[in-house]
Amino acid sequence: MDKSSTRLSLPTNPREFGFFVDGAYVPAGSREVFSRNSPGHDVPVTRIPKCTEEDLDMAVDSARAAFDDRRWSGLNGQARAAVLLRAGALIRERAKEIAYFETLENGKPISQARAEVAGCADMFEYASGLARSLHGDSFNNLGDGMLGLVTREPVGVVGIITPWNFPFLILCERVPYILASGCTIVAKPSEVTSATTLILAEILTEAGLPHGCMNVVTGSGSTIGQALIEHPRVDMLSFTGSTAVGRRVVEAAGRSNFKKLGLELGGKNPQIVFADADLEDAADGVAFGIGFNTGQCCVSGSRLIVERTVAEKFSQMVRDKFAKVVVGDPLDEATQIGAITTDAQNRTIMAYIEKGRTEGARLICGGEQMDFGRGRYIAPTLFADVTAEMSIAREEIFGPVLTIMPFDTVDEAIKIANDTEYGLAASVWTKNIDKALMVTRRVQAGRFWVNTTLAGGPELPLGGFKQSGWGREAGMYGVEEYTQIKSVHIEIGKRTPWIA
Ligand code: NDP
Repeated sequence: MDKSSTRLSLPTNPREFGFFVDGAYVPAGSREVFSRNSPGHDVPVTRIPKCTEEDLDMAVDSARAAFDDRRWSGLNGQARAAVLLRAGALIRERAKEIAYFETLENGKPISQARAEVAGCADMFEYASGLARSLHGDSFNNLGDGMLGLVTREPVGVVGIITPWNFPFLILCERVPYILASGCTIVAKPSEVTSATTLILAEILTEAGLPHGCMNVVTGSGSTIGQALIEHPRVDMLSFTGSTAVGRRVVEAAGRSNFKKLGLELGGKNPQIVFADADLEDAADGVAFGIGFNTGQCCVSGSRLIVERTVAEKFSQMVRDKFAKVVVGDPLDEATQIGAITTDAQNRTIMAYIEKGRTEGARLICGGEQMDFGRGRYIAPTLFADVTAEMSIAREEIFGPVLTIMPFDTVDEAIKIANDTEYGLAASVWTKNIDKALMVTRRVQAGRFWVNTTLAGGPELPLGGFKQSGWGREAGMYGVEEYTQIKSVHIEIGKRTPWIA
């Protein structure tokens, strides 16, 4: 990397990875290898093996053995916490490398990738405390002859399937909490962004995680991902991705072993702006909410619902923000919006932009590819005159495309916000506490932001209402999600006989 420049250089050769089982890399050997090109530059950056079903069996066996012999779940919370703390420190030590590979494979700006990696270290540090705080309940009110205990026990072997939009962040919103609960893991990252998941497995081994507790299989979703969701020896599966594949996960669990599921799926998240908001703050927040990660974010604020009296003025304010935002090379320190991660996603976004035009929405700005000589980039796009039935108002675009719908009353704003099959996140911008609370209580969403957006951290749980998913990740809720409850009745003293 050239330190005198504000732009990191590309690697001269792609980095070769193996997959990770029982505490060590397994080299690709004779397996097929997937070569990943950087979305911002279109040059090869990593080479990742395509695992076979036998490889998956080996990884599941390893996680199964590690769980069943209690080498991890049998440790006390203090010992588990020590490993998680060391992992947090090692993530900080290797932060530059992790952020670099995250940017190379995903196309997100390097400054953003670094901030995400720092947040991931924080997740491990916070979850280490939870490993020590996890506890059950007791009932001392069952009479002198009986004591009741409720214990929380780890579910077992957890499969994790993560998408390509936040490969390291989404992983770290799950792994430390799952490990804090005492479970063991088989992770399957998206084929196009596998590098940092493999690096995390290395880090955990170095931090002292017993072998077999963190395994990573690589390959495509339709092959190795499908085999993982159907696997009969996996006790729970955490899936993050599209609602369409989420449905397949539910079907596969039903067909195999009724594994417990956690699902974080799509979103079509409202940004409700009242006329009495600090409009300057709101415009900046709204632009950030859809520009961050090129809008390839399940919690992107993709529907702007704005009070009619300020709608025209506010849309100009957002347009002015879009005009100033720095789109460009993800390896440049100054970049705020990077490249679109996959060709398929690029096509999907451009097709939605075309649909918006043909369905009669008014394009205020953007709407086109940006040409930097290589890679794929889309200009932040704003559509007005959007109506409820248009596909750009209803479907998850997963790109930097914002639609505007005006409202006249609080009730109407809430109705528009709830007019979606999704319920992942929502934001409201107003200086009126009554309106803020009314909207927060009545709009159906698992995450809510008032006068801010996309704020997060390890303490608060994540997850969706409606078709945005099941279960919660992060915080103590995220640890408890990976436990099952056992109730224990303990008789004290002599039993009252059934047969005298
Ligand atoms: P997918 O849902 O297809 O991919 C998400 C993850 O699931 C990836 O790891 C993928 O692996 C894996 N996967 C794919 N098919 C299967 C399967 N049959 N069984 C098990 N795992 C599978 O999303 P896409 O990448 O195709 O993106 C399509 C749309 O999904 C986006 O436009 C966006 O709307 C939405 N999406 C939502 C996300 C969110 O955070 N909620 C994240 C990503 C996408 P692989 O990539 O290797 O094929």
